[in-house]
Amino acid sequence: MTLQVSKNVTAVGKVDAPIFDPRAFRLSDEQAAIITRARELGQAVFAGRAAAFDRDATFPTENYRDLHRAGLLGISIPKKHGGLGAGYQTYALAAAEIGRYCGATALTWNMHVCSTLWSGPLADDLDMDTRTRAEHELRRAVHYKRIVDEGAIYSQPFSEGGAAAAGGVAFGTEAKPVDGGWIVNGKKIFASLAGHADYYGVLCTETAEGEKASRRNTLYLAIPAKTEGVSVVGDWDPLGMRGTVSRTLLFKDVFVPEDAALMPRGVYFQAAQRWPHMFLTLSPTYMGLAQAAYDFTVRYLRGEVPGTPPVKRRMYPTKQIAVAQMQIKLEQIKAIWFQAVTEACANPSKEQVLRAYAAQYSVMEGANELAALAIRTCGGQSMLKSLPLERIYRDSRCGSLMLPWTAELCLDRIGREALYEPGETDE
Ligand SMILES: Cc1cc2nc3c(=O)[nH]c(=O)nc-3n(C[C@H](O)[C@H](O)[C@H](O)COP(=O)(O)OP(=O)(O)OC[C@H]3O[C@@H](n4cnc5c(N)ncnc54)[C@H](O)[C@@H]3O)c2cc1C
Repeated sequence: MTLQVSKNVTAVGKVDAPIFDPRAFRLSDEQAAIITRARELGQAVFAGRAAAFDRDATFPTENYRDLHRAGLLGISIPKKHGGLGAGYQTYALAAAEIGRYCGATALTWNMHVCSTLWSGPLADDLDMDTRTRAEHELRRAVHYKRIVDEGAIYSQPFSEGGAAAAGGVAFGTEAKPVDGGWIVNGKKIFASLAGHADYYGVLCTETAEGEKASRRNTLYLAIPAKTEGVSVVGDWDPLGMRGTVSRTLLFKDVFVPEDAALMPRGVYFQAAQRWPHMFLTLSPTYMGLAQAAYDFTVRYLRGEVPGTPPVKRRMYPTKQIAVAQMQIKLEQIKAIWFQAVTEACANPSKEQVLRAYAAQYSVMEGANELAALAIRTCGGQSMLKSLPLERIYRDSRCGSLMLPWTAELCLDRIGREALYEPGETDE
């Protein structure tokens, strides 16, 4: 199931070059084809719709239909299940291309894709006994079929407003074991795709009567949105990423059958310990926004932004220096981020983990720095709401707030883990 978009792109103007040139970054033809598909869809279709989703804080439903038609809802679903079979790096590069044109679509698509990436290639790297693995294989096939055949959309509501999303304590959302499944009770805040996903991939803690909540007992359950006891409350009127519709989700005595598990018991906890790059997957969106801020600036100074008078501003030395600084910053971000998404694996070395934090920090802070520099360089007219730059500025402000790897927590961890080996103290 694919969508031909190349013709549309050429009809509206110049086709953007990829953020990561396949030859320079040594990507295979198959990878390049998937990433191109994302870029073309982003430029030809999503870019034009982004302003309305942002203005009205509405979910990009039409974009999801197009992602389904293009096969991209199943980008990381194994080929034998009808997906494109993309690994971590390919997904990250494709998501950056989507983020370049619509931040909210890329960020929510990330929540959806991670449901398949974590239950798929990532879970394959983790320890499970033969029976558990066979059971997991059967269960994930059901999720994959829904996505590929019906265009089902999954989300990842983890945040609760306490220390759980940062990995500090067990999730407060509880799953009490009962015959054939669990009864789930709890609340998730900032639940992107709330009211729009078909399944909420909820992290909760399995707690039997009288048992103390433990992070080891984290469950990852796909709860159908229409289940009795599930409700969406509150409004969503934030600074940026308005199209994510990240409202509050409530679960009141929700029965969830055993086969709703996206990962078997204990596997999410194992993943969080052994596959830390799973938390770097929010960064591709912001890699794309960083590129978008740069692209806009070059076009604006050349007098080539559609809808603006063809006034050139590129001849001023101050503008040239600003663009040079932006280009250097962008290449620095690209380099560390590409390295980090390329080396994502189970049991990474300490150096690789520190680099992943550094990449997350660089992208999340860097995207907003580039957007701010772009506004300063292009000037007052560039921040009008009729142009995409002010949205890029607002959307990029949200990146460093995303748990569990906020900019502050990345700094915290890099400093501590660089100075202390596991178990070391100053006593
Ligand atoms: C646009 C958008 C979409 C989102 N979508 C989702 C989603 O789909 N699913 C989801 O689960 N969440 C989502 N989130 C939530 C996000 O991951 C955070 O959970 C949310 O921003 C938390 O805000 P908070 O103020 O409650 O954080 P708090 O936990 O109150 O933290 C406030 C700040 O304190 C710092 N901090 C926190 N813990 C520590 C610590 N232990 N040590 C030192 N510093 C610490 C952090 O830097 C953090 O920025 C989204 C957020 C945004 C902005």
